[in-house]
Amino acid sequence: MLQGEEYLEALSRPKKIIITTHHKPDGDALGSSLGLYHWLKGKGHDVHVVLSSDFPTFLDWMPGFDDLIYYPTQTELSHNLFAEADIIFCLDYSALSRTNILEPVIREAKGQKWMIDHHLDPEDFAAVEYWDSSAAATAQLVYTFIADVYQDKDSITPEIASCLYAGIMTDTGSFRFRSTTSAVHHIIANLIDAGARNWEIHENIYNSATENRLKFLGYCLLNCLEVIPEYNTALFSLTKEDLAKFNVTTGDTEGLVNYALSIKGIRLAGLFVDRTELIKLSLRSIGEIPCNEICRKYFNGGGHLNAAGGNSTEDLDTVVSRFKSILPEYKNYLT
Ligand code: 5GP
Ligand code: MN
Repeated sequence: MLQGEEYLEALSRPKKIIITTHHKPDGDALGSSLGLYHWLKGKGHDVHVVLSSDFPTFLDWMPGFDDLIYYPTQTELSHNLFAEADIIFCLDYSALSRTNILEPVIREAKGQKWMIDHHLDPEDFAAVEYWDSSAAATAQLVYTFIADVYQDKDSITPEIASCLYAGIMTDTGSFRFRSTTSAVHHIIANLIDAGARNWEIHENIYNSATENRLKFLGYCLLNCLEVIPEYNTALFSLTKEDLAKFNVTTGDTEGLVNYALSIKGIRLAGLFVDRTELIKLSLRSIGEIPCNEICRKYFNGGGHLNAAGGNSTEDLDTVVSRFKSILPEYKNYLT
């Protein structure tokens, strides 16, 4: 939790602030960042959100997305902002390596680091930690940061509410994961009251596929899905050629892993994608199967109990074989 009253005081005068989040931001990373951005701007601070990469196109409706700064193409501007920043918010990540090329920039910046996050095993780099691994989303923590810590619920505009709603919606799989407590629903109700147009947000995020993306989904279901019934596990493995055939871009594989988990009886699902520079994997599970432990131990990653990810520089077949070879270790959970 937030340590020390003086931090409340710190935001009472205008500051130069940068908000950062993890590489390839998802709905929660971007929603929490832009939600906080609008609130801080409304309080008179000089605020910028600096990203290490692009993000899925289904998020490009979010209020404030035109103001985002991209480190790879706006490097000099970013360096100048980091050099001057009093405070650097670190949202939706608790290990600096998750910011990819921004890691050394954030590490070396003089500004005070404030982490707001819900991932396990936080690295000790922040001066302020507003951290709760039981939170459903970082956007939920940004909400309580504003509403409870700063007692400033009335300042939540429709823009802030929309961004935070989108973050919580995407990180809870539309309010169906175990993290979706009644407290989450109360917050969601408050966000709708504050002006989040929930039906529009669902429409923007879930009904924005291209024809190509839908055909890619059909292709994956037909050609790339493997079920391992003895371990109640299913996985997709996508080669470089599969991706090239459909000109797959950031976000096109988002949600695919859930189709593997939706098979009756399946308790662990994996998605292995050959992104050329490395193999990226995503795991999802139900019950006590520890995706984060598997990713941490074997795939250089981490995350949450039921949703985690990692990567490897080995080839696709090797990574998939390793995954299959560790299933017996988790037999008690899986069967
Ligand atoms: P996804 O599978 O959607 O990429 O990620 C699911 C969750 O796993 C994310 O919320 C994030 O916490 C975690 N995650 C994904 N990739 C990595 C990774 O490479 N390293 C770590 N530490 N966590 C990851
Ligand atoms: Mn998150």
